[in-house]
Amino acid sequence: MYIKTGKCIWCGMGTPEVTFDNQPHIVPRKLGGREIGFDICDECNHAFGAAKQGKPAVDLAFKEVFQAFIKLGHNLNANTYKSFSSIFFSYHHSKHTIKIRSNFRSDSVTRQFKRGLYEVFLQKYHKETGNGNHPMFDVVRKFARYDIGDLHVFYAFNNILLVPQEDEMLKIPMGNDITEKMLESGMYEFWMAGHIFFLEVFPIAFMSRGYAYLQKAASNYLINVNGNERIFEINNILDVDIFMQRFNSK
Ligand SMILES: [Zn+2]
Repeated sequence: MYIKTGKCIWCGMGTPEVTFDNQPHIVPRKLGGREIGFDICDECNHAFGAAKQGKPAVDLAFKEVFQAFIKLGHNLNANTYKSFSSIFFSYHHSKHTIKIRSNFRSDSVTRQFKRGLYEVFLQKYHKETGNGNHPMFDVVRKFARYDIGDLHVFYAFNNILLVPQEDEMLKIPMGNDITEKMLESGMYEFWMAGHIFFLEVFPIAFMSRGYAYLQKAASNYLINVNGNERIFEINNILDVDIFMQRFNSK
């Protein structure tokens, strides 16, 4: 049993209405995530892994994007390309090109990927603080778990990646200082595999202070190399350059 509060952070229910028998991974296991979360009921855990109404599963969209980041961004050689397999993309080594398969719909993949960021965020937050049931996360719950509403996600685009060690790749920072910053700006800085996303967690705080915060973040986190470095809102997942073609231009 993976329980702290006994109340699911997603649906709010406890036993006997729901069960907590399965190991809920914070980062999808298919991506290599090993960390186990708490208070995630079996039904909610399953919902994130299930395709629905023609949309890919939230966990799948998350996995596909980060897998491309990790495989194509960190060690660009013939072997990493060979081991790259994806249900959305295909790599042709002889032509050195990546093709998007016909089942790829950028609008639904984008939305599911964004929901996946919030899924991982709240599960990690709850594991560290035990406070994931708090009503202040209701907007996050609606979006991530129930596909209702929409939340802003921004991405810091750099031409240099500060690549973590293999065993640090899937580590998500969380701590008191981060929580404080989040309450202040309304945003959570999601770092994974050397990529930085900014998640709108508290819309009211975000509306008043979020954009100023992003401006400050831009001066802290962007490394001026080519002049195209910027923080932008993700409206189409392909805009984040998941194939790391930023490194192929020369
Ligand atoms: Zn639940």
